[in-house]
Amino acid sequence: MPRIYSLGDYSERLRGVSLVVGEGLCSNIYVIGREAAVVVDTGVGNRVNSVWPQLEELGVPPNKVKGVVLTHAHHDHAMGAFIILEKADPRVFVHTFDTKYIASRIDPQLVKVEDGDIIETELWPLKVIWTPGHTGGSICLYNEDEKILFSGDTVFPDGYFGSFDGDTGSLRAIIESLRKLSEMDVEVILPGHGSPVFNDADDHIRRAYHNASLLA
Ligand SMILES: [Zn+2]
Repeated sequence: MPRIYSLGDYSERLRGVSLVVGEGLCSNIYVIGREAAVVVDTGVGNRVNSVWPQLEELGVPPNKVKGVVLTHAHHDHAMGAFIILEKADPRVFVHTFDTKYIASRIDPQLVKVEDGDIIETELWPLKVIWTPGHTGGSICLYNEDEKILFSGDTVFPDGYFGSFDGDTGSLRAIIESLRKLSEMDVEVILPGHGSPVFNDADDHIRRAYHNASLLA
């Protein structure tokens, strides 16, 4: 099975975005652009998910990695960032509430973000949507024009949503986050694990909101 996909082959909106599929429990890694690349989530950074060979294969050497965004600070999304920082000097964007365990390893590149902040990329700006529940500082990234949502571990395809039983997780918070997302106009979701949804993603989000509400 191929591990690296050019998502422009699947959706015109995603021209210039690549997906490195995580092996095992590792998160997906999304790479936006080439010349001043922004990486969304970084995987676990172990032997099979070793980050640099994959970025090099995409034509993104260290001097072209300008930004890293972590949708939350769980190790399966965040530890690859430490490996990226061994060779590159990107700014690393993390929600304020999720910086506790990783700040010391990311300073001085760390940029704390909050709801509504804008992260620029080569292709389009991404708005930070604070979606606590899976962790206290979980975020999604949204581009309104292209209706693209990087959804981290908050919402997955087919009505699934993130676990909420971790340290800073909360069922009530994730229901509220899913409600907020279900009111947005979303065509594409690029989740932290599993396959993207290229069309009618808001239907998937509404199902996740419905399913989560049943647990309350
Ligand atoms: Zn997680």
